[in-house]
Amino acid sequence: MLSQSKSLLKISLVTLSITASLLTTSAYAATYIHAGKLITADSDKVKNKVTVVVDGNIIKSIESGFVSGTPNDTVIDLSEYTLMPGLMDMHTHLTFEQSGPGSYLQRFTLNEADYALQSVGFAKKTLMAGFTTVRNLGDSHNETVALRRAIDRGLIEGPRVFTAAKSIATTGGHADPTNGRAKLIETDPGPKEGVINGVAEARKAVRQRYKDGADLIKITATGGVLSVAKSGQNPQFMDDELEAIVATAKDYGMTVAVHAHGKEGMRRAIEAGVDSIEHGTYMDKDIFALMKQKGTYYVPTIMAGAWVAEKAKIDGFFPDIVRPKAAKIGPLIQQTFAAAYNAGVKIAFGTDSGVSAHGDNGLEFVLMVQAGMKPIEAIRSATYHGAALLNQLDRLGTVEAGKLADMVAVKGDPLTNISEMQDIDFVMKDGKVYIQK
Ligand SMILES: [Zn+2]
Repeated sequence: MLSQSKSLLKISLVTLSITASLLTTSAYAATYIHAGKLITADSDKVKNKVTVVVDGNIIKSIESGFVSGTPNDTVIDLSEYTLMPGLMDMHTHLTFEQSGPGSYLQRFTLNEADYALQSVGFAKKTLMAGFTTVRNLGDSHNETVALRRAIDRGLIEGPRVFTAAKSIATTGGHADPTNGRAKLIETDPGPKEGVINGVAEARKAVRQRYKDGADLIKITATGGVLSVAKSGQNPQFMDDELEAIVATAKDYGMTVAVHAHGKEGMRRAIEAGVDSIEHGTYMDKDIFALMKQKGTYYVPTIMAGAWVAEKAKIDGFFPDIVRPKAAKIGPLIQQTFAAAYNAGVKIAFGTDSGVSAHGDNGLEFVLMVQAGMKPIEAIRSATYHGAALLNQLDRLGTVEAGKLADMVAVKGDPLTNISEMQDIDFVMKDGKVYIQK
């Protein structure tokens, strides 16, 4: 009898708690964010004194003035702040950080698990810097596919990740993981490892990325600054290989991001129909015209150029074969960016973080504005244009009713002081508040 009443008690307690949880979920509770200024980012206009109403993880409405709902609802007072969409960095490498001369040894000393674990901290720093979405453009062993899953499942804190997994290169090209090795330990990587030669391997490498869980494709169409190889700018893919990559990627709904410094490699890639050119150091007016005609995005990564130029001054920081490339190519990117901006090329914000430190991403805004970009356009390049490049404008990139509740805020007005973007005071991702100073 005693045990029966105990179990009855248990049942009624369970019923009670179920009823209670039903009550809390059914009692409508929303978040009312009072924003002194709001950059919606769907246009250049700024709204003053508005309330953004968030229901769960969705932006429900934008109301004029500071309004609030029922006593159940939460009010967040950002009346002294500028609210804007969550920031989007289109070029990161969340699995590593170039910390000094020792970085080149990491590929011989670190395992997949090391890269995966260090990415946890780098992802969190990125989110806390206000970047609620990133494209990861190259890892070593698909660690960022696992990183994306862990973030999506709520196991760890980080931005929404759209990853290319391992980049695709050609033999000896930028992102061939065996560059610079002694013969004794050199191998001959293939499409699975992201190295292709010819059309069939190009197709296979893209399909392998799809199988691995990548969201998009990254290729290295020209030499690169940090690879242990002589040229930083020669073309490294043939037209038929590029066409095969773009056509195969399209079949799987994947976009193609292209690392490129030299003009000929860029020209071939843009002609083949890729979606974005990264770095783009030696672009000129012919390339600008071609990009405008094809609708190709430019992701400048000025920070990476500035960082390698700075480090090239230090003896022994880079291997001898890398140092002259870093000294020559690095300082050019900001000028290239200014010329591309003036020519009217579409620009999406990207930092190449992992070269510079994770969490410093906001410095790119300062460098963009320094080069002549209007602050509102720099912010739109990191919101609206990021979402456009990712084909995610239906749910990300602007503060509009119906979109996901990814928003950040800075004190004062970033349009008069762009360095505010380096000090983010409020971060909401998917309706959840991560920072509120
Ligand atoms: Zn990169």
